[in-house]
Amino acid sequence: MMTDQLQRFLFDDFAIRGEIANADDSFKEIISNHDFSPEVGTLMGELLVATSLLTAILKFKGKISVQLQGDGPVKLAVINANQDLQVRGTASIEGETSGLSFSELVGKGYMIITITPEEGERYQGIVDLSHNSLSECLENYFDQSEQLPTCVILHADITNNVQAAGLLIQTLPATSENHEEDFQHVSALAKTVKAEELFALSQEELLYRIYHQEKVRLLETKNISFKCTCSKERCLSSLASISPEEILDILKEKNHIEMHCEYCAKDYYFEESDLQIFLADNDGQQH
Ligand SMILES: [Zn+2]
Repeated sequence: MMTDQLQRFLFDDFAIRGEIANADDSFKEIISNHDFSPEVGTLMGELLVATSLLTAILKFKGKISVQLQGDGPVKLAVINANQDLQVRGTASIEGETSGLSFSELVGKGYMIITITPEEGERYQGIVDLSHNSLSECLENYFDQSEQLPTCVILHADITNNVQAAGLLIQTLPATSENHEEDFQHVSALAKTVKAEELFALSQEELLYRIYHQEKVRLLETKNISFKCTCSKERCLSSLASISPEEILDILKEKNHIEMHCEYCAKDYYFEESDLQIFLADNDGQQH
């Protein structure tokens, strides 16, 4: 079956839209770059699927970042994506995470959704994490920010296979008279789906499994892929915050400056020759 895809669908008889997301390969890439416990890995997989679903639902051209920030062992968990669904992610963990639930992992804190469009104002949406699952936090976000009844199902696993998939059902803004009943009906059926079905079935099979009694129309698919945006140039520009004196001190001690990308685990080494140009630039020399 095709993985790493978003599939949009509509119902002929209800003003409701849906999205199925599967992100196994991108998730594998994120997992292979980190040493996550099963609990944190599952959380990251769910966050990856959640971010993909948000990218599909919130129309924008630019970047999106979905962060969990709390006082539990997961200090920070973040997935970044752009409108082309190129994704990457990392987490900052302090302490034991084994056997912890979602609420215990994140503790008290917030989910912060930041959209940075290529043009126009940056948008930030904040939801507190006082729910039992990431999907409930997301449902709460849509409830607060868009007043659109939304059902979110997220599943991820790193213990057997590395798999991440999800399903979103949302009332369309132009709602019919029966929209509440329709939404209850469609989301109750969505909730019968099992993690194994989300992982193993193709999008057509999955929709048939859940909605074989309804008229469902498949719309466009989009590919999800892993891509890190780090580069030698970006690392170099981040060195601008360090004073030339400090850089010279590090060079005296180690002969090079080493930088590590938290997202893709790539190491960058800057030798004196790379940095001399940089130091000269900072001295105000013109090109
Ligand atoms: Zn990177």
